[in-house]
Amino acid sequence: MKELAPGVYSLGHGKGGHVHAFLLESGGELLLVDTLFEGDARLVLDAVRQLGRSPTEIKRIAITHAHRSHLGGLAALKRITGATVYAHRWEADIVAGDRRAQAVSIVPHQSIKLIPFQLGLWLDRPRHTPCPVDELLDEGDSLGPLQVMHSPGHSPGHLTFWWPERRFLIAGDGIATWPDLCAGWKVFNLNHVQHKASLGRLASFEPLTVGVGHGEPIVEDAADRVRRLAESY
Ligand SMILES: [Zn+2]
Ligand SMILES: [Zn+2]
Repeated sequence: MKELAPGVYSLGHGKGGHVHAFLLESGGELLLVDTLFEGDARLVLDAVRQLGRSPTEIKRIAITHAHRSHLGGLAALKRITGATVYAHRWEADIVAGDRRAQAVSIVPHQSIKLIPFQLGLWLDRPRHTPCPVDELLDEGDSLGPLQVMHSPGHSPGHLTFWWPERRFLIAGDGIATWPDLCAGWKVFNLNHVQHKASLGRLASFEPLTVGVGHGEPIVEDAADRVRRLAESY
């Protein structure tokens, strides 16, 4: 666990393409964005205990989008914490297990390190444990200290979260830093026109720190880097 700014913690590991989730502490409440790629949610629970807090203090869990790298511990965390689970309308039935995420090409693209994830999505294996979504989120909503932005392109119901006081952006899979800094894993981005527009909006925030779905957070020159990604996409 890494503290990126007051109350902003980055959680990650080597699985799921160096997947990351974000634990936020605001007004005495814990809020989790995404749940990593693992069955038992242990890494999240360990982080909560390291903060001297109890799992039931996680009151809300928001999901950027319904790709399995980001939903791994969700069902277990819901059971343990009793948190309210949030997602966009378009992703909610995939999170709940009623529909599968759209497959992408299995042709090698960008990096051979991505092929296992392309194949996983194509085969729909391994499946995440389904979890019902309690509340829907959309553009303009707020969630604790976060502003919610609908940022389609990578997936139709992809969400981005912005904490204005911390100038902290959670870009989800809109941006990745593993295997290299890029505007998301291109072969996974379903609609490139929408994705470019979403990147432009991400850049307009001029973030100080950017948490991304895969790879380490961007902590230096974040605004410039996001702007360049948006311009060159
Ligand atoms: Zn994704
Ligand atoms: Zn992902």
